[in-house]
Amino acid sequence: MKITEINVYPIETPIEQEFYYSMGYVDKRASVIVEVVTDEGYVGYGESLCHGQQPVEASAAMIQYGYAPLIVGKDPFQRDIIWETLYNRSRPYGQGGIAVNALSGVDIALWDIVGKATGQPIYQLLGGAYRIEITPYATGFHRKEGLKYPEALIEEAHRHLDNGFRAMKMKAGFGVEDDIQTIKAVRDALPDDVRLMADFNGAYDLGSAKRIVHGLNEDSIFFLEELIPPEDLEGYAYLRSISHNYIAAGENIFTKIRYKDFFEKRALDIIQPDISSSGGFTELKKILALAQAYNTLMFPHVWGSGVSMAAALQFIAAVPPMPISIHPLEPMLEYDHAQHPFRLDIICNGIRLENGKVTVPSGPGLGVTVDKDILEHYRKKSAL
Ligand code: CA
Repeated sequence: MKITEINVYPIETPIEQEFYYSMGYVDKRASVIVEVVTDEGYVGYGESLCHGQQPVEASAAMIQYGYAPLIVGKDPFQRDIIWETLYNRSRPYGQGGIAVNALSGVDIALWDIVGKATGQPIYQLLGGAYRIEITPYATGFHRKEGLKYPEALIEEAHRHLDNGFRAMKMKAGFGVEDDIQTIKAVRDALPDDVRLMADFNGAYDLGSAKRIVHGLNEDSIFFLEELIPPEDLEGYAYLRSISHNYIAAGENIFTKIRYKDFFEKRALDIIQPDISSSGGFTELKKILALAQAYNTLMFPHVWGSGVSMAAALQFIAAVPPMPISIHPLEPMLEYDHAQHPFRLDIICNGIRLENGKVTVPSGPGLGVTVDKDILEHYRKKSAL
């Protein structure tokens, strides 16, 4: 089989009500969908994540101009060779960020093709599903102008409970006192058996992060995510050594090479690579092997549209419990609940939350159908 064509869809749409998190304001939802066509009729889809304020043009251009010419004519089964080729060719201007973000979308599309060509869901290609039903956690709690806090956060927590969630993650990073006070208020409003996490998006210096860790050490916050920027490895190792709650990060850590440093420093309790940004299936498999060797939990990050969610579900199905035991800590699916006009439309609503669980699609490849009308509808015409 040979790849004949790569099509890139930079898609974007404004949202009705702007929201903000610790790094800025979000007034649109965007993504980059990759379509890989073969001479045998199989077409695969992947997604390169657009982080909070990332412009769609960036990874779209990388794929179109940087990678597509190197892939046409190649066999999609050779995804490891393709991954290493693209990574090595982009090394002088890559090694992370946009280069790996773009590569992730291409890689997911190749696995989708192999799944479709073999009639197998990707979790089978990865070695099998340890679980087919995944517990999702609701990500939301973004701030909006004009609302009263923490009251609005408590209201949102109750909405997630009503929708069947037993775990949720709130945005933080709005100041040490504000964070400690609002996180405690939401924690107190939730039943004890509901998991609460907090995500700071790297908003703090080490001293402020230390104060937050101490301020929450008597509370049951399942994990504290990205307290500090990802460049501060030693800072993470220090925070991990003083925190009673798990320390997590990973959406801004790219490839096995950068993760290696975090493992060697024993800097994280939970790693959170994003399949649509940290390296795709091919690289997350290798990061997972390192995580096992370093006895560290992996809970993948998800912020993309349905294509990315489908890829994450396939991968999470195949993440082994660490270690296998009667009551292991199972990986959860991050289920973004902020406003997103095409999140599930793009995969014809192929992912559903039922009885508090999300079932991994069992069809070939990603197990979902991509709606090309939606791709065309939201395509940013001026992008490429
Ligand atoms: Ca995050």
